[in-house]
Amino acid sequence: MASHNLFLLPGDGIGPEVMAEVEAIISWMDAMGIAKFRTDRGLVGGCAYDAHGKAISEEDMEKAQGADAVLFGAVGGPRWDKVAYVHRPEAGLLRLRKDLGLFANLRPAICYPALAEASSLKRELVDGLDILIVRELTGGVYFGEPKTITDLGNGQKRAIDTQIYDTYEIERIARVAFELARTRKNRVASAEKRNVMKTGVLWNEVVTRIQAENYSDVALEHVLADNCAMQLVRWPKQYDVIVTDNLFGDILSDVAAMLTGSLGMLPSASLGAEDPKTKRRKALYEPVHGSAPDIAGKALANPIAMIASFGMCLRYSFGLIDWADNVDTAIANVLAKGVRTKDIAAKDEKTVTTKEMGAAILEELKQLA
Ligand code: NAD
Repeated sequence: MASHNLFLLPGDGIGPEVMAEVEAIISWMDAMGIAKFRTDRGLVGGCAYDAHGKAISEEDMEKAQGADAVLFGAVGGPRWDKVAYVHRPEAGLLRLRKDLGLFANLRPAICYPALAEASSLKRELVDGLDILIVRELTGGVYFGEPKTITDLGNGQKRAIDTQIYDTYEIERIARVAFELARTRKNRVASAEKRNVMKTGVLWNEVVTRIQAENYSDVALEHVLADNCAMQLVRWPKQYDVIVTDNLFGDILSDVAAMLTGSLGMLPSASLGAEDPKTKRRKALYEPVHGSAPDIAGKALANPIAMIASFGMCLRYSFGLIDWADNVDTAIANVLAKGVRTKDIAAKDEKTVTTKEMGAAILEELKQLA
């Protein structure tokens, strides 16, 4: 049986608390012979700064480069607010994304029926919602040069950000979206602003060509990004996969996130280019939430986002589709039974600790086995 090499970076705050629940699942799967995992642990964020004076050490970067997948908890906290900008906790995550070439960010927005009441939308609009936002993560206006603020000398300043996309950047993210759509409902919506932006014109042209050349079996629609935001709160279930650039993806994925209730429920994956020899992609899996210093150490953290991120790892890095499905089903079953951490509990509802939620999901997995 192939052994999967996982590098764990729990990080700060609630990161280690939620990672511990994933480690319990990994140990059980390993002991049951479901899959063989080799795990190693490193430091990232504030804890790495305390140990090494930087947000991630070179040794841990090497381990991340060599791993089949990286599982990342969360970084940051008030303790490190005054650390020099280059060493701030988030620099560890940005370095990982950059050095591993993680250009495709996948954010599913799934609304579990048991939690439909927690959404800001009516139950009928979100019950059973399952969409996937594929965001370009390494290009666009967040990285384009020039990126400056110039003093114009007349009491005015001028700020410039530059939105740049090259053909290859759009081609590779489009391919990821079409491939993923084939494993789902076979539909892609591509969101841009071709009506006012040249990058939108090129984006539209390239996505159209890639679909015609290689993915004519997948249905493609084009939607203006502002309309997409509106449609997401009007009738989100019309979408399957949404592919979009870095800036619009940042915004649209947060809109989609709120449809599902709590931050503690949202997983994500970031994927790099496929290695032509091994056919594997560099990959990092992390919950969308941060280190939640307000609840760290209080056993209040919801481990579902972290466990669901591990589920994405089983699906996208290890091809263990049945077990990825089992993880998702175990989460849904536990929620259907009314098990709630504080963040997803209704007023006066009984709540469980981080460990109890993790244990309930593991118990459910054992039943599914
Ligand atoms: P946050 O996501 O840490 O917390 C926002 C709110 O959601 C808090 O009230 C928190 O208690 C709650 N929450 C978050 N995750 C939860 C979970 N799993 N279970 C229950 N409740 C949960 O965002 P923030 O408060 O803006 O930032 C806190 C720190 O995290 C900052 O240092 C920030 O820079 C950092 N941060 C890191 C990442 C990352 O590591 N990827 C992402 C966002 C923020």
